[in-house]
Amino acid sequence: MIPLALPTIAALTPGHYDISIFDEEIGELPGHARPDIVGITTIDATGRRAFEIGDRYRALGAKVVYGGPFASYTREEALKHGDSVVVGEAEGKWEECLADFENGCLKPVYETQTYVDYKSQKPPRWDLVDMNRVFQVAIQVSRGCPFDCDFCLVSKTFGRKMRYRDVENVVEELKAAPVKYLFFVDDNLTINKKYVKELMRAIIPLKISWGCMCSLDVATDDELLTLMADAGCFNILVGFESLNPESLDESHKHHNRGGSIYAEAIRKIHAAGIHISASFVVGFDNDTLDEFDRIFNFSMEHNLPYVNLHLLNAAPGTETHRKFQQEGRLFNCEPELGVGHFPTLHYMNMSQIDLFDKYMETISRLYSFKTIRAKAEALFSNGAFTRAGSDIPASLKVRLSWITFKEFVLSTDPERRKLFWFIIGLIRTDRIAIDKGLGFMLSILGYTRHIRSHHRNMKEFRQMILDQDKGPWIKNEPNQQPPV
Ligand code: SF4
Repeated sequence: MIPLALPTIAALTPGHYDISIFDEEIGELPGHARPDIVGITTIDATGRRAFEIGDRYRALGAKVVYGGPFASYTREEALKHGDSVVVGEAEGKWEECLADFENGCLKPVYETQTYVDYKSQKPPRWDLVDMNRVFQVAIQVSRGCPFDCDFCLVSKTFGRKMRYRDVENVVEELKAAPVKYLFFVDDNLTINKKYVKELMRAIIPLKISWGCMCSLDVATDDELLTLMADAGCFNILVGFESLNPESLDESHKHHNRGGSIYAEAIRKIHAAGIHISASFVVGFDNDTLDEFDRIFNFSMEHNLPYVNLHLLNAAPGTETHRKFQQEGRLFNCEPELGVGHFPTLHYMNMSQIDLFDKYMETISRLYSFKTIRAKAEALFSNGAFTRAGSDIPASLKVRLSWITFKEFVLSTDPERRKLFWFIIGLIRTDRIAIDKGLGFMLSILGYTRHIRSHHRNMKEFRQMILDQDKGPWIKNEPNQQPPV
């Protein structure tokens, strides 16, 4: 899945432009291109690479405009590598930026003072993307979040009042989508249950398959959960963030919590044939290293194979960033390292190296194929995941089947082979739909990708951490400034 930003920006661009979209996740930047103007979208993970690309195109004479959260909150740095930054929402400002470009009076910053009317959006220009490399496309139906968690930029960027697209406008976009697999990138799709039920009823006839981000409270509304399953939902991403209530208090996360209700909610969601991708963060001031074992045990107890485990980081623009900067607890490191897989802060109660070592040990345990098989046995054996998803093109089917065969059957790891044959056994006995079974194995491969990359760089990463580690942070203790 490639980000929604560029096809959305392309849809806003006047018709007299000849537009190309490139994404390095699915192909290389062409060496021969000589554009007049280049728009680059940024997040933390891609910030440094975005600036390198900007430098390259400026050297070729192009004007470079950055957008996205990373450039929006590091605009001074972005302007060293580009001519302009579009801060926050692009609608209206991108068109203004292009008009100024044509008149030779590009301004450094384009920033909207009001939130855009979001009711009706132009469909993203997927026709400009090489769809041979894309399995799933993104769609967004709402902007905003009424909450204001310290580590998050969403309500700061899009406001605390929710804005929704008209259901008809969404349905038009879904009908025109180039594939039947989608992901709703709304930060909490189900926050307005009345709206989302109307949306679900409208999309059931489209026979699409999709995932989204939402809270566990979908399980408290049986009608909503059934509608979501009927409309093709196969996966929800839930930000548990922490199992430690004091850490949730510390970060002002006041919803999607409540230890005892988790068990029943997870059981109901699984019974509806919907996977849960569970996100957790460790490194809050109220955390100790014990949080890692608590998360591992929780994932075993509730059969959660997909776990996104992150170390607390501080994205520029967040309250967490402000607090850690004020306390002199930010370490200066490359932005792509600060996305939750590498320690970038001066943590309380744990040294950076202890935190990193325990993190690596935990993700290795979470994603050992033995652990995954144990969870899969409990999760799939009762036949809840038999609802087939949308069909995919034959060429993609062949490619995905080959990857599964190569990565599992030809693997030297006996646990991988056992998982493969276990899933095939379920498929043969109709206890799991074929796309769900193969999709599960492919997803697990995706999850293990960054673990493999970390293991490759382990020596270098540990040395980087040892060079900067100052031990646990102690409140009110002078002389603890991290190296810059
Ligand atoms: S983490 Fe989720 S609930 Fe909290 S502010 Fe961000 S989007 Fe809203």
